[in-house]
Amino acid sequence: MSDTPTNPAAPFAFADYDLPPHLLQALTELNYAHPTPVQALVLPPALAGQDVAGQAPTGSGKTAAYGLAVLAQIDPAVAGVQALVLVPARELALQVREALKALGKHLPAPGLRVAALYGGHALRDEIKTLQQTPHVVVATPGRLLDHLEQRNIIPNQLKVLVLDEADKLLELKFQQEMATIISRLPRRRQTLLFSATMPEKVLALVREHLTRPRLLAASGGLGGAGDDGRGSAAALPASLTVRGHVLGSVEEKPAALYHLLRQKGTGQTLVFVNTRERATELSQFLRGRGLAAEVLHGKLPQPERDKALMKLRNNSAQALVATDVAARGLDVPALDTVIQYDLPHDAETFQHRAGRTARAGVAGTAHLLATVPEQTRVQGWPAAQATHWARLNPPNLPAASAARPPRPTTVTLHVTAGKKHKVSAHDLVGAFVGVGGLDREAVGRIEVFDYYSYVAVPREQSAALLEKLNGAKVKGVKVRVTEVA
Ligand code: AMP
Repeated sequence: MSDTPTNPAAPFAFADYDLPPHLLQALTELNYAHPTPVQALVLPPALAGQDVAGQAPTGSGKTAAYGLAVLAQIDPAVAGVQALVLVPARELALQVREALKALGKHLPAPGLRVAALYGGHALRDEIKTLQQTPHVVVATPGRLLDHLEQRNIIPNQLKVLVLDEADKLLELKFQQEMATIISRLPRRRQTLLFSATMPEKVLALVREHLTRPRLLAASGGLGGAGDDGRGSAAALPASLTVRGHVLGSVEEKPAALYHLLRQKGTGQTLVFVNTRERATELSQFLRGRGLAAEVLHGKLPQPERDKALMKLRNNSAQALVATDVAARGLDVPALDTVIQYDLPHDAETFQHRAGRTARAGVAGTAHLLATVPEQTRVQGWPAAQATHWARLNPPNLPAASAARPPRPTTVTLHVTAGKKHKVSAHDLVGAFVGVGGLDREAVGRIEVFDYYSYVAVPREQSAALLEKLNGAKVKGVKVRVTEVA
């Protein structure tokens, strides 16, 4: 699969769109140089006030695509909810709020107010926020409906409605709540819908709630779907930044790795090493320093590999230390960062590794840790010509007793029921909500395997869930539930 953007609009600059100067300033500060393919497709009709249904997975830049269109319409002087973003889960509500705040940083005085509303905590905490009349509300459907019913939100100033991750909203059976919510919104409004997939159910939602919508899907492999992970022979994507860190000696590599992983913005990271032994050793080193790291190499049994990948995908791990063979064809859609800890043996491997991030025009960074002789070798590779080199003096590793990095807020639970027991993701949602007492919005990524499943849940609710679900029945199967270490 080629990495060349097939969408001719992709190389445009944000200044080519009808965006107010305060948004352009925020984009510059965020270092968003060019719109991603989804943004290039969505911005013109969305800024012109049209309804849009966009097929766009996480990692495609969809949040900024609708975020910019929403923020361009907000008048901060008007005290009223002007835009509503419906999302399927608490975690996403918080992420979207942060993204909107960053994009809306320079809105004219009195500035932008964004509220995130979601189940699982006291309604009264949110009522206080609502009394300050946010301009934008990001919410899960159940909780929003509660507020509408209590008239904590009066949506008569609403200009834009966004349905984000529409397929997930339907998967979680929010259809009824959404219909009720939408029936209470002004008819004269713009509606923007985003979904990773566009099955008939989502299209039905589009037909029902959008008016003469533009149906858009960025071609050229949104999110890199279908890529076998080997990269292509083409040059590295323009959205990829390659940073070479020159170290005084190989002994500095562990501290340098720790330092990079602790940087704000590093995010989900794939760390490449050359041997299985190094993979094991390094993941243990990182775990010993309190980082959520997993290991992946060819000698691990399949369930262990599934588990490691799943933890990276559902955010209960930050880093996966992997060998090249094991990382081929990895299904991890939105990697923020790649770190090449060991120098690859050849230029092609360098390129394959770096190409695991910054897919589909989304920004990503590939770091390389190198001693001076290693740097000299890499500089001979054409694929590495765009590398920005800088000397790195990694700060000393903190003492093992020092404050630990914050643990991921998500943990993974292992449930002893899977496809062979005819148990589906729906059944698991049912059990976690019905028996476990978890809010539907708080259920994270679910992966069902033949004989077991993994469910991501908020860390603070894990203990209560274990207690309630152990020994409970899911579709007639008595299950054991354990937290994945
Ligand atoms: P999303 O698909 O909305 O979850 O966005 C994926 C990531 O891409 C987020 O970390 C954004 O901050 C980042 N991003 C979005 N648009 C751009 C852009 N035009 N240039 C660089 N990074 C972007």
